[in-house]
Amino acid sequence: MNTTATDSTADPVAQAPLAPLVVADRCDSCGAQAFMRVRLRSGGELLFCGHHGRENAPALVAAGASVRDDTALINVKPSTSANAL
Ligand SMILES: [Zn+2]
Repeated sequence: MNTTATDSTADPVAQAPLAPLVVADRCDSCGAQAFMRVRLRSGGELLFCGHHGRENAPALVAAGASVRDDTALINVKPSTSANAL
C-alpha cells in the first residue's frame, strides 16, 4: 500500500503550536509569571511558572500533554546585579 495519509492516531489539537507566553500569563498554581504552557489531551491549557512547571510537566507529558517550555527566558532581561561586574 502506498498511502500519503497522515498517521490516523495523531491528534490535531496536540500538534497545533503552543502560543508564546507573555508577561500577563500567570501560573495556575501560584499566580507568578508563567513560563510553561501545557496543552492537555482534552485541548485545555494550563500555565505554570518555572517552579510548578518543573514540578507538574513530567506527569502531564506522561499523560500525553504537550508542553511549551519558555523557562530559558526567565533571566533574559538583564537584572541590575548583572551590571555589577
Ligand atoms: Zn507557580
